[in-house]
Amino acid sequence: MKRRNFIKAGAVGLASPILLAGKKKMKVNKNNPIIVSTWLHGIPANEASIKVLKKNGSALDAVEAGVRVTEADAENQSVGLGGRPDSEGNVTLDACIMDSDGNAGSVAFLQNIKHPISVARKVMEKTDHVMLAGKGALKFALENGFKKENLLTEQSRKEWLEWKKDNTIKDSWGPNDDHDTITSLAQDNDGNLSGACTTSGLAYKLHGRVGDSPIIGAGMYVDNEVGAAGATGMGELVMKTCGSFLVVELMRQGYSAMEACNEAVDRIIKQEGGKTKLQVGYIALGKDGSIGYSSIQKGFQYALYKNGVNKLFDVKSLL
Ligand code: ASP
Repeated sequence: MKRRNFIKAGAVGLASPILLAGKKKMKVNKNNPIIVSTWLHGIPANEASIKVLKKNGSALDAVEAGVRVTEADAENQSVGLGGRPDSEGNVTLDACIMDSDGNAGSVAFLQNIKHPISVARKVMEKTDHVMLAGKGALKFALENGFKKENLLTEQSRKEWLEWKKDNTIKDSWGPNDDHDTITSLAQDNDGNLSGACTTSGLAYKLHGRVGDSPIIGAGMYVDNEVGAAGATGMGELVMKTCGSFLVVELMRQGYSAMEACNEAVDRIIKQEGGKTKLQVGYIALGKDGSIGYSSIQKGFQYALYKNGVNKLFDVKSLL
């Protein structure tokens, strides 16, 4: 490109509506609570969140109450109690939470505590830190009244023993489909946004592996001026693209919630050379009450509560 043309293109870029749109004031959705959560387990989670929002509770209380349902469900093998263990048989949990004032808390590689999301909230509210990990996170949880318990259910233990017969961490610790985080985003009657994300992570992962879910801006992000976003799927792909922050930042620049989710998924596909067998799904909730969702592969679903109806939807994949 000749220098003159380059300058011209640059000037057009600067004046583009996309770049300036972030300065426009966004219409705020109020008195019309909305909750969007990942996967089928988002339905019962949303039910618990609705109860909070109907009593005029905060989006923060709503998302915490919602994902606690998933964490406590022993049948659910991807979150909290009953989660599939790592390659050595340990259930290790990651979670994060963020409120409408930009406060954030998170725990990573936490073991033996059923409700990592509530520990993450305590980190946010009681400390000057954002993230606690491993033994330190456990110590903090115990000091704050959480009880130590065995999270490895008989079902998950049996499946892990089966997995161990044919696999070693050398050949197949990696990508598999046994991972479905719950990320939940809510908007309360005041129009405020909050988000929560909690998971047992990738099944049979290497001991010590931490995914995207406890990382603010990767697994989940809230910007109360613009919107909130959250991720599920192969955490490594989300981390490498700062996924949830990217979705929200694109919304700030004028992309719709849907366009932002599609662009963030597309970014991963490009980074993977145009094709991948791995899955990542995003959900987003705009300050104006708009919804976004996108995924790499088929099969991703989200649960949406809006206008009094709580319903599961399939997402059309980009690949
Ligand atoms: N994102 C989670 C992780 O990589 C897993 C999932 O969402 O399925 O740990």
